[in-house]
Amino acid sequence: MSGISLAGVKKRYPGGVLAVKGVDIDIESGEFVTLVGPSGCGKTTTLRTIAGFETPTDGSVHIDGNEVTDAPPYERDTGMVFQDFALFPHMTIHENIAYGMEADGDYTTEEIDARVAEMLELVELPGVGDRTPDQLSGGQQQRIALARALAPRPKALLLDEPLASLDKQLREQMQVELRRIQQEIGITTVFVTHNQEEALTMSDRLAVMNDGQFEQVGPPEEVYNDPDSRFVADFLGTANIFDGTVSAVKNGYAMVDCDDVSVQAAVQNGVSTGDNTSVVIRPERFRFDDGAASNAGVASADGGTNTGATTVFEGEITFKRHLGSSVEFHLETDSGRKIVVVRRSGMDKRGPGDRVAVSVAADDCRLVEA
Ligand code: ATP
Repeated sequence: MSGISLAGVKKRYPGGVLAVKGVDIDIESGEFVTLVGPSGCGKTTTLRTIAGFETPTDGSVHIDGNEVTDAPPYERDTGMVFQDFALFPHMTIHENIAYGMEADGDYTTEEIDARVAEMLELVELPGVGDRTPDQLSGGQQQRIALARALAPRPKALLLDEPLASLDKQLREQMQVELRRIQQEIGITTVFVTHNQEEALTMSDRLAVMNDGQFEQVGPPEEVYNDPDSRFVADFLGTANIFDGTVSAVKNGYAMVDCDDVSVQAAVQNGVSTGDNTSVVIRPERFRFDDGAASNAGVASADGGTNTGATTVFEGEITFKRHLGSSVEFHLETDSGRKIVVVRRSGMDKRGPGDRVAVSVAADDCRLVEA
């Protein structure tokens, strides 16, 4: 198996759109990397540049150590799966899966038949070889598209929103299935999605794209817990973001004065007194402080109180909803700030109209550039 490297890749389309503005990444052999970002940020263009359907305006592409920047798709040894499956409708499933190997011309009929059977086993659809695509469900067609891409033993698998047209339940099943298959054969995979949940749950690493650039590249936990920018914090999952100014930095913690509250946050990168910054707090980082309303520390402005290394917010629950294994609360603090809090499901009797206090530890507050 083999890695993929992009160095300084830019792509300007005829007509002037600079869709990719210089991206760098080294994808290791066997790694599953997801390009995730909002519509139009350049994900598909980046993937098509790896596949060879687009030639970069600048920069280089290497696959398995060989430069392929200007090579046509068929010389790159990659398998691609598209959102719309793109199976050949008039061919049988067997013929669809055999297509790439037939085109290569290097295989005997026996080798092709054996490989098609192996691929059908891999995607857990043995025995459908004689059917045509219209005799399969959407999810089954997507598995066949995957089998077709993998049959010629490509060096890398490139997936462009392959699950986007499946309904939610099937999509979740296929996420697991796709990951299982990818791990079973250990193939280097680049996956494009605009679905942040999919990116977080499937990948070894994700590259969060914004406006033609990688904003952050890293493992899901890192990108989620330690966003480098406000954009990343906001794009991946829910984030409470408070803008403020650093009023003091001491012992690795910064005091950030927001309009209505001072928040203490752990300092990861250099910040100095007077800097404008944003505090990012994930909803599941808050705790309900039962009884804290009466024994909180020194009150700041109104609505927030600072007690050593935690910040307390008092207010009222305005909304509650169950998310399956957790419960989401919306709070309005006494100063009118809206906060989203998520707690593990349990016998939580709190509900709209209840007065509550929530606190967050300084180590659970992240600072990003304002
Ligand atoms: P989506 O999630 O909507 O598919 P994306 O992140 O994959 O978006 P791209 O399809 O790579 O984004 O498009 C990036 C930018 O390049 C967009 O502004 C798009 O309009 C533009 N673009 C894409 N393909 C072409 C093309 N063939 N010619 C000109 N501009 C293009």
